[in-house]
Amino acid sequence: MSEERYQQRQQQLKERVEQRVAEATKRCGIVIVFTGNGKGKTSAAFGTAARAIGHGMKVGVVQFIKGEWESGERNLLERAGAEFHIMATGFTWDTQDKLSDTRAAVTAWEQGKRMLADPSYGLVILDELTYMLTYGYLALDEVLTALENRPAQQNVVITGRACHRDLIALADTVSELRPVKHAFDNGIQAQAGIDW
Ligand code: ATP
Ligand code: MG
Repeated sequence: MSEERYQQRQQQLKERVEQRVAEATKRCGIVIVFTGNGKGKTSAAFGTAARAIGHGMKVGVVQFIKGEWESGERNLLERAGAEFHIMATGFTWDTQDKLSDTRAAVTAWEQGKRMLADPSYGLVILDELTYMLTYGYLALDEVLTALENRPAQQNVVITGRACHRDLIALADTVSELRPVKHAFDNGIQAQAGIDW
């Protein structure tokens, strides 16, 4: 391609991008979903938390995982001011007790609901929420309503595999992580600092 033709193309591209940027005039909080079977959903959520805290936003996190194990992100982000709520301990994946699992999920969700009604939170992360809907621990309608009625400037990140289609429909940005390869499939152990 000639230098002149290259410059012409780049100029056209620049104009198109500038036009699209100029057209994006709305200012409101958004719902982001990180889903799919590939690695990177929770890390992407906490990457967003780091950004938000870096800009002085208040960040609240609810993790819908059983057991309170140490996570690198929590160690760091709590020190930086993020508020963490982790689903109640005392249940493990071995004791699949629907009633106690539901209770634990509902208790964690109460924290999420509270944050979704409080405009002081600029970012609310609902990590692994999708499973609570898949297993029927939480009512889909209640979750959708809380998201729809949240403060206009509040952002939400939801993670987890097999996200319900109604949640995808409600979200503004949805990224699906696709597993091209994963070290675990090659017998490599999960590692602190990389996997949690
Ligand atoms: P991460 O927390 O690393 O961002 P994730 O949130 O996308 O991963 P989850 O489905 O929540 O993944 O799984 C949690 C754990 O399982 C993490 O330790 C992650 O590294 C691991 N993991 C994620 N995807 C896969 C996969 N395709 N095969 C095996 N292990 C995986
Ligand atoms: Mg995850």
